[in-house]
Amino acid sequence: MAASVDSNSALVLFSGGQDSTVCLAWALERYSRVETVGFDYGQRHAVELEVRLPIREKISALSPEWKARLGDDHRIRLDALGEISQTSLTREMAIEMGENGLPTSFVPGRNLIFLAFAGALAYRRGIQHIVAGMCETDYSGYPDCRHDTIQAMQLALGLGMDRHFELHTPLMGIDKADTFALSQKLGGQPLFDLIVEETHSCYLGDRSRKHDWGYGCGACPACQLRAKGYQEWKARAAVQKGTAVASR
Ligand code: ZN
Repeated sequence: MAASVDSNSALVLFSGGQDSTVCLAWALERYSRVETVGFDYGQRHAVELEVRLPIREKISALSPEWKARLGDDHRIRLDALGEISQTSLTREMAIEMGENGLPTSFVPGRNLIFLAFAGALAYRRGIQHIVAGMCETDYSGYPDCRHDTIQAMQLALGLGMDRHFELHTPLMGIDKADTFALSQKLGGQPLFDLIVEETHSCYLGDRSRKHDWGYGCGACPACQLRAKGYQEWKARAAVQKGTAVASR
């Protein structure tokens, strides 16, 4: 039997990356009970799964309110996804643009599968809101990150489980620089620093090299996107500071 639905609860798709960590903070600001789910599908950057629990611990230490709201973590094994997808995220192959105009890191339908499992878990846990970090602004055009895809999934989950789910993608319309800015807005400098230090984006799973934007190889598309976002955030913050000084 499914638990009764708690309309003030959320399940966050939490990978341990920058985006999903900002989404976790976003959910902790809004909902009284927040649970997290991570998927293990044989990704090469499985190190991101290892940073999940330390991030949860550190984020709940930032605020007594967030600590009280943060509930269970769930980890779901999706080995089948690795079996059917021959991509650079799951196999030893170069991450580059493929002939179809998508990066070789594209795992077909990955987010559809994640959302379907998240929906099933949310159903069982009596959770109404599902929060995920998909973003169509600067993500190499992954079709399963599009707003329309997410809307369609919300409809499909609602119909298929006869339950009203709300899917939230707070990063959908913003770029990486704004994601850095949003983390500062949600949790000030402590959350910003936690995101730089603790979250993992690098597709190659490299945590041996530290940059001002965090750890990573510095060369893969995920590192480049994160580095570019950080530089843009810094430039925008400097302009805002300059404007504030000038208007005094
Ligand atoms: Zn990298």
